[in-house]
Amino acid sequence: MSQSRCPDTRWAWVEVDQGALRRNTRAFKDTLEPGVRMMCVVKSDAYGHGAVPCAKIMHAAGADQFAVATVDEGVRLREGGITWPVLLLSEPPVESVQTLIDNDIMPSVYTAEFALAYGECAAASGTVGKYHLAVDTGMTRIGVSPSDVVEFRRSIDFHRGLECAGTFTHFATADVVGDWDWELQFKHFREAVAAMRDAGFDCGIVHCDNTPGTLLHPEAHLDMCREGIGLYGLHPAETTVPRLELEPVMSVRARVTRVVEPPVGTGVGYGLTYRVPKRNIQIATIPVGYSDGLSRTLSGRMDLLVNGTRVRQVGNICMDQCMFAVDVNSVRALNPARPVAYGDVVTVLGRDGDERITAEEMAGLRGTINYEVVCDFGMRLEKIYV
Ligand SMILES: *Cc1c(COP(=O)(O)O)cnc(C)c1O
Repeated sequence: MSQSRCPDTRWAWVEVDQGALRRNTRAFKDTLEPGVRMMCVVKSDAYGHGAVPCAKIMHAAGADQFAVATVDEGVRLREGGITWPVLLLSEPPVESVQTLIDNDIMPSVYTAEFALAYGECAAASGTVGKYHLAVDTGMTRIGVSPSDVVEFRRSIDFHRGLECAGTFTHFATADVVGDWDWELQFKHFREAVAAMRDAGFDCGIVHCDNTPGTLLHPEAHLDMCREGIGLYGLHPAETTVPRLELEPVMSVRARVTRVVEPPVGTGVGYGLTYRVPKRNIQIATIPVGYSDGLSRTLSGRMDLLVNGTRVRQVGNICMDQCMFAVDVNSVRALNPARPVAYGDVVTVLGRDGDERITAEEMAGLRGTINYEVVCDFGMRLEKIYV
C-alpha cells in the first residue's frame, strides 16, 4: 500500500469501497423474486460504514426502504437528503412522537400507549402515522405476542391517525440450517398474520428475513427482506458463505507516525508489557487505538499488514495509538525488501497485496462477531469513499 488517499488531519481512516457496496446490494436484490422489496438496514451508521453515503449507493443499487435503530439515526438520514421510507426497528420513547412525524420516520409498534400517542400526534399534525407492527414469535426481544396481535390491533386501529404499513418479526436462529426453532417462529408469524387478516386487519408489507434468512430461507422472503451485514460484504455465519459471493466493503488503514530501533530490553506501551527481545527490531507507531474500535483485548495478539507483510502488534493498545514490531533482518529477506518507514501505509483491516486481515479473524481473536468489529471501527475514524 503505497498510494492511498488519507485525511489531512489524522493518519488513520476507514476506507469504504463503493463499488463493493453497490455489487453486494445488487447481488441481494438479484436473489429476491420480482416484487419482493429490499429494506437496507443502515443502523449504527451503516454498521460503521457511514449511513447517508451508503444509503444513496444502496438506493441506486435496488434498495426500496431503509431501517435504523434510533430516532437520531433516522433524523440524520433525513438531514442527509434520504427521502425513501425509513423504519425504526424498535419502539422509541413516547416523547419522540413529534420528531417521528416531522421527519416521516415509521416506528415499530408494540405498546398501545405509544401507538395512541403517535396517532394523536399524527392527527394533530394533519397527517397519518404509518407504523410497522412488531410480533415476538420467539426471540423474546420486542413485539406483541402472536396470541395478542388481534386484540392489540383492535385496541389501536380505531384511531384515524394510525395506519399499519407493515408487520414483521425477527428470527433468533436464521443462520442455522434445518432448525426447529426457526420453523416454529415462522409458523407463529404466519399464524399471527393470518389471524389479523381473518379479523379484517390490513397487515401492510409483511417481512421477516434478515441477511441469513434471505440466503437460507427463501420461503420466508414474503413481501420484503431486511438486509444488513451482507450488504457490507460480510457473512453472518459459515452457513451462508456458499450461498452468495460477497466483497468486504470496509478497510481500516493508518500511516506510520514514528519509527525507532531501540536497544534490547526497551519496554513498549502502558505497563511495558512488551520488551524488545533482540537487536534490529523496529518499533513503529500508528494513530489507531481502542477508541477507534481497535479493541484493547487484541493487545499483543493481532497482526497488521505493512508492505504486504504481516507484522505483530506489540504492547498494550492505547486509546488513540498502538505500536507494532518489525524484525529488520527478516523483512530484508522479503519482497519488497525494506524496513518500515515514517508515512508507510499500514492495513489494520482489509487487503494489502496478497495478504488480508478479515473482520472474522479479528472477531475470532476478540471473542465476538464480525458485526461488532466493523461497527466499532465506525465510531471515530474518518471515512474515505473510494
Ligand atoms: C439488525 C437487524 C436486521 C439486519 O440483520 P443482518 O443480520 O445484519 O442482516 C434485520 N432486522 C432487524 C429487526 C434487525 O434488528
